[in-house]
Amino acid sequence: MNDTECEVLVVGAGPAGSAAAHRAAGAGRDVLLVDMQDFPRDKTCGDGLTPRAVHALERLGASDLISASAGRPEIHGLKLHGFGGSVTAPWPEHPEFPSRGTAVARTDIDNALVNMAVASGARRRTGAKAVDVDTDLVNGARRVRAVHFADGSTVHCRYLVLAEGVRSGVARALGTRWLRGLVHGVAARSYCPTPFGDEPWIHSHLELRDAAGTAQPGYGWIFPLGTGGEHGSAVNLGCGALSTSRRPAKVNVRRLLATYAEQCRDEWRLGEPDYVASALLPMGGAVTRVAGVNWAAVGDTAALVNPLNGEGIDYALESASDVIDLLPDADRSPDGLRYMWPAHLSERYGDAFSLARRAATLLTMPGLLAALGPLGMRGPLADHLMGSAARLMGNLVTPEDRDLTARAWLTAGRLSSAHDRFWHAESRPLFGR
Ligand SMILES: Cc1cc2nc3c(=O)[nH]c(=O)nc-3n(C[C@H](O)[C@H](O)[C@H](O)COP(=O)(O)OP(=O)(O)OC[C@H]3O[C@@H](n4cnc5c(N)ncnc54)[C@H](O)[C@@H]3O)c2cc1C
Repeated sequence: MNDTECEVLVVGAGPAGSAAAHRAAGAGRDVLLVDMQDFPRDKTCGDGLTPRAVHALERLGASDLISASAGRPEIHGLKLHGFGGSVTAPWPEHPEFPSRGTAVARTDIDNALVNMAVASGARRRTGAKAVDVDTDLVNGARRVRAVHFADGSTVHCRYLVLAEGVRSGVARALGTRWLRGLVHGVAARSYCPTPFGDEPWIHSHLELRDAAGTAQPGYGWIFPLGTGGEHGSAVNLGCGALSTSRRPAKVNVRRLLATYAEQCRDEWRLGEPDYVASALLPMGGAVTRVAGVNWAAVGDTAALVNPLNGEGIDYALESASDVIDLLPDADRSPDGLRYMWPAHLSERYGDAFSLARRAATLLTMPGLLAALGPLGMRGPLADHLMGSAARLMGNLVTPEDRDLTARAWLTAGRLSSAHDRFWHAESRPLFGR
């Protein structure tokens, strides 16, 4: 084999692409993993890994990358602040998910994941931007034969995994459309030096105010990165806001980040925010057409970001592993991945993402959080309420869970996606055709 042909071509070497390449190479397939950037490279992110992401990394065999012995922080849960209160919500005890989170700068973890894929046998090509595809028709659907790169080279492949992240140029060429009218995120992050890099809690501020004290749409986060990473003792400090076409977030997230950092400076003894960068987050599976006969979109390209907490690394890893696990079935089916992949995504994430999109859309209503926030943050049941909220927002619920909170959430999810199917049958926003 050479770099002009392969069995599985993976475009994009973020967590989704590296996980797909690692899994496929481990299953004995001939894999080429391609990225337009050279590694190590930065990726605008909060760097937070909740128990769901830790679990996904453990399943991938990447526990070493996030272990305390590798200098990664042990995060016990979430501390929420705002509306005159502060609540501590430890990660829940759960039979499937660990009760540990962590945070690792993406420059580090993405590079380590690429190396892991290469160690499993995947070939790697960096600095190569995929720009177009050659297709033919099979059963009325487009099958990818080859991918063209900006340097004029072409790679022929049997399967194409699209892990391009939010930009998704090749996926767009194949008909994937991000439904930007639905709820999505806009967020900015920075790295700030602090002596408290080993703080064992993620902090989130639900109420942000500008320098004049006026309430701003959005929330802030401080994710401790430990003391031994590439930024030294530091935190990832950022802020984000939810937006829809009906209620666009009218906020300059970079300016808000500067104000937020100023407000946290004394308590955290913060240095100047550095590496400030902002980006959009597609969310909740709000894309159409995520697969064809021999191609599938994973991670951000399939909008697999949880609308309630902006997490996407875990879903990138999960979806990448899942699509590779489906390849033996796709090998045997004349339609390949075309129907199988959207059906799998709907089955796995449809209910939870439908409900999360609905809840996140509600949060874009002006005044709603300000009205409910004090009840959740200051009332007598604040610890209990916010503990459950942290679990639900982190999607730390499985269909096997039998407790009341989980059953109520799962039922609400089923109702929410049934509502979507009934009222939006034509547009099918979630992973639709
Ligand atoms: C401000 C912000 C904060 C966030 N915070 C968190 C957080 O704390 N925790 C969390 O879990 N998630 C967070 N997310 C979401 C998370 O960053 C993404 O969900 C995650 O990176 C998705 O991984 P991916 O592999 O799908 O895509 P990416 O990580 O974006 O990787 C895509 C790769 O594809 C390459 N590529 C793109 N197009 C091409 C092409 N045409 N040819 C070749 N290569 C190409 C890119 O160079 C890139 O390396 C945050 C996002 C933002 C914007």
